[in-house]
Amino acid sequence: MTMTAASSIADPAASATAYRLTGVTRTYRQRERTVTALAGIDLEIAAGDFVTIQGPTGGGKSTLLQMLGALDRPTSGSVRLGDLDLARASNLDLGRVRAAEIGFVFQGFNLIPTLTAAENVHMGLEPLGLDRDERRRRVTEALDRVGLADRHDHRPGELSGGQQQRVAIARAVAKHPRVLLADEPTGNLDEHMRDEILDVLDALNREGLTLVVVTHDSAVARRARRRLRLAKGTISDITRA
Ligand code: ADP
Ligand code: MG
Repeated sequence: MTMTAASSIADPAASATAYRLTGVTRTYRQRERTVTALAGIDLEIAAGDFVTIQGPTGGGKSTLLQMLGALDRPTSGSVRLGDLDLARASNLDLGRVRAAEIGFVFQGFNLIPTLTAAENVHMGLEPLGLDRDERRRRVTEALDRVGLADRHDHRPGELSGGQQQRVAIARAVAKHPRVLLADEPTGNLDEHMRDEILDVLDALNREGLTLVVVTHDSAVARRARRRLRLAKGTISDITRA
């Protein structure tokens, strides 16, 4: 992503909103009980921000991330990503958004063990219908960005946990997504590897990528520009708490 000098003055993109959530609720029916996972969320996330979401288990973090990721729809309310309301979009549009606009990173890496790092990254590009040269270029660029230029041909089992998570990040950013969503991306990593991932996330954010990271780890949250807390389905801003 490049920005011209002129665009930094009055470009609306400079202060654009990535997400605008209004009155988002999500309830689940469990036998005769109704569980409220999200109890009415109003939230704006600015393009280019680095947001973390903390909070107790069961507080609704994964549910919220699924809304942001076009993986689930709210019971009520709207979830705008750019011009599209994910709550009302067709399944086809949601599929397109997931494939092209949203990068996902999970605690367990979710790499395919029989494929090399490059092949794993390549997989993430398949739905985009890019030509062969462009795909190759993107795979190389993405592995470079996460510092794995020399690990293209390694399989996950031949990589450290931190390196595996960097492959997963490369797979997510190769599509040039609008946002990167991560659910406990450092949850399976020791401190050293955690810092390695934090440095990669920091660098991607400085390049302009919007990050939303669910985490239990306050070392991760300290890197964020904006810290949110989600408990009992209700969100609060704890950036300066
Ligand atoms: P967190 O990620 O913060 O631990 P979740 O979003 O996973 O929280 O869960 C929020 C609440 O919604 C919890 O009470 C959980 O049990 C409930 N919940 C989440 N997913 C489902 C589901 N598929 N069916 C029923 N209840 C669910
Ligand atoms: Mg969770």
